This record gives sequence, structure tokens and C-alpha cells, in this order.
Amino acid sequence: VTNKPLSGAIVPRFAGLATFMRLPHVPLQDADSIDIGLIGIPWDGGTTNRAGARHGPRQVREMSSLMRNVHPVTGVKPYEIANCADLGDVDVQPIEPAAALASIEQFFRAVRDQDIVPLSVGGDHLVSLPILRAISKGRRLGLVHIDAHSDTNDESLGRCRYTHGTPFRRAIEEGLIDPTRTIQIGIRGSLYAEDDLEWAHRQGIRIVPIEEFHDRGWAEVGRTVQHVIGDAPAYLTFDIDALDPAFAPGTGTPEVGGMSALEAQRLLRGLRGLRFIGADVVEVSPPFDPAGNTALAAATLVFEILCLLAEKLPQA
Ligand code: MN
Ligand code: MN
Repeated sequence: VTNKPLSGAIVPRFAGLATFMRLPHVPLQDADSIDIGLIGIPWDGGTTNRAGARHGPRQVREMSSLMRNVHPVTGVKPYEIANCADLGDVDVQPIEPAAALASIEQFFRAVRDQDIVPLSVGGDHLVSLPILRAISKGRRLGLVHIDAHSDTNDESLGRCRYTHGTPFRRAIEEGLIDPTRTIQIGIRGSLYAEDDLEWAHRQGIRIVPIEEFHDRGWAEVGRTVQHVIGDAPAYLTFDIDALDPAFAPGTGTPEVGGMSALEAQRLLRGLRGLRFIGADVVEVSPPFDPAGNTALAAATLVFEILCLLAEKLPQA
């Protein structure tokens, strides 16, 4: 392991170029020795209402300068067990959605071909679809999906089938994820119609509405996740709007009644041991985040997830 974050005890946190976790920036073509790659996807072309998540990666890089090296509860030291780097941003243009999705998929195929575990920061939630296309390798992955929304709509605004409200319907249709090994946590908010979630239920997705999460608590729900996902490979996707807008106002589709930042941290700690082959944190929208709290929460959750990924690496 060669890469270490620049320490705030040596170089002040406000100095230097902003990278995820103050790690070195390593271009993908030089990344053969990298175990875990942090990747920005500055694209929000799937957003149906309040855009702005294209600015997410840069702001999360900035706030990630507050992170340190050792997990305060589990004691995991991710940078001692995994060679990590900021692989930069996917080169993705904002105008043509199909071209953008193709660019994202192509980037993550290269990541996969170098056996790098991707930990991405969006971008809106549609970015998860091309990531799954690139890394599923013909297997149907398990999915841990933490979000206020199920994102299993069929289409919206006429005939749009590719929006941030549809990625997991498409992923199931395309055989990228196994709906019976999919769990969605934090679901809430008013519906378009009372049968909005019926398709998801029919596929066998385990939905944990926010009421169940609050009634049973993060530890019990973590056990349910372990039970649903099992030992096989899985992907973890965290939509920042799972958090209550009091903790994460900077997002396109806020829903009140969400989880606290601490509850989200503890939920993630309950996922130790699962075989995640990649993860993302999406929907951070800096234009709606004047205090930077949302990006700070996202950076903190990225650190939590980085610890999960590091301790499950093949060589760990
Ligand atoms: Mn979402
Ligand atoms: Mn959402």
C-alpha cells in the first residue's frame, strides 16, 4: 500500500488541491496498483426536477478534507489495508443523456478490467445504472439501496425511461441485480398513486419504509440486510435524500421524516462483512446546500463505505 491521504496534521486541511479524502489523484491509465478508486460523476441529466447534482463531486471533495484515517468505532484503517486513490471525474458531457450513460459505462468497464473497486460520488441516481452495467459481469448482484425513493418507476414526463426515478427498474429488467436480493431502506414520501411500489413488491424487493426503520432501529434493520443479501456479491448505493432534509437539505428531491446522519452511519456499520464490489453516494446538490452540510454528510458516509470496502478486499 503506497497511497496515503495528505495529513491535516502536516499540511493544513484548507491547503492543496481538493481530491477525495486528500488522496493522490491517479489517472485511470496509471491505476494498476489501485485497490479502491474514488470517482466523481458530475452529471445530473437524469434529474426530473431540481438539477444541481452535477456539482456534487467537487463539493464532496472539498468537504472530504475534514475526514481522517481511522474509523472511530470499528478501528478500521482503510489506507493501511487498501491502496486508494482519487481517479478523477468521468469525462461526461451534460447534453446528450445516451452519450453520457455510454461514457460512464465505458469508464467503469476500464475500472472493472483493472480489478479496482469503485466508490463513486454523483451525480444523480441514474449514474448507478451504467455502473451496474459495467461491473455486473453477467451476474445478478445483490443491491443495498438506501434512499427516500424506490427509483423503480417505469417512465415519466412522457416516455422518458431513463431518469433518476427509474434506474433500478431498468437494472432488474436488464438482469443486473437480483430483486430477491435487493433491499431498499428509508422509503417514504407522498406517492403519485397508491400502487407506485407495487411493481417493486411484485419483483420481490424487500422494502423497509422509514417507519419500519425507526420502529426497529438501525441494528435490527442491519440484520435484515445481512439476511436478504447473504454471501454473494452486492452493490451499495446511497442516495443522500435518505437523510432528513434537516441533515441533508442539498438534494433535488428532499423528503421530510428521514434518518439522521448518525443513524445512517450506524446503519452502514451494520453492513460489515457483506461482499460489496462497488458503491456510490449520489444526489448531493450543492446549489441547495449553502452551509455545505449535505456534502459533509456525504463525505462522512463515503468514509464509512470506504472502511466497509477496504476490510473486505481479497487481500484484507
Ligand atoms: Mn434515488
Ligand atoms: Mn431519492
